[in-house]
Amino acid sequence: MDKEQKLENLRKEMENDSSLPLRKGATNLVFGEGNPETEILFIGEGPGYWEDQKGIPFVGNAGILLNKLLQSIKVNREDVFVTNVVCFRPPNNRDPLPEEINAFKPYIDKIINIIDPKIIVTLGRFSMAKFIPNVFISSVHGSVNNIKWNDKDKVVIPMYHPAAALRNGNVMNMIKNDFLTIPDVLKDVKSKVVVDQMTLV
Ligand code: URA
Repeated sequence: MDKEQKLENLRKEMENDSSLPLRKGATNLVFGEGNPETEILFIGEGPGYWEDQKGIPFVGNAGILLNKLLQSIKVNREDVFVTNVVCFRPPNNRDPLPEEINAFKPYIDKIINIIDPKIIVTLGRFSMAKFIPNVFISSVHGSVNNIKWNDKDKVVIPMYHPAAALRNGNVMNMIKNDFLTIPDVLKDVKSKVVVDQMTLV
């Protein structure tokens, strides 16, 4: 089964999981969208109004900024995959609760396992905490963190949430600069994979 089919099965499983929180007030499940073969996975916080209406992540103002940031590094939005730590809209866009994030965790973990990206870019503190707990985003944004995920090497780059950048010019400058590091990190990760393969031969 290819990645697309696996993701589609997982999406259906989520649609049918009546135990998931936040479903009652939501219009659509916002599973995630993009290229399952991507090397870069973006994980945000949770759907807002427009995401809930359309069932697609990052399609409101934060999404427009995300698309511009991707353009700044010559990456098409269609070539990456984008999801969130919760996949139904929290009422009035409130922060997701720890138990809500926990309920969606098995699904988000499966999305990561299926896509198996080289780089995970976290957008905001909730997705950052999934990989790098007990830190402040102000201290670690833009840093390159080598982690083991399911016994595989992954790089996690925590970034501010685009919505925070829209509210604050300093954050905007930081997220713009942090995005500019992505191409070099990707180049490094890929060259490491080549070296690893050569040492295996
Ligand atoms: N903010 C998020 O964190 N995710 C979305 O999908 C939209 C806005």
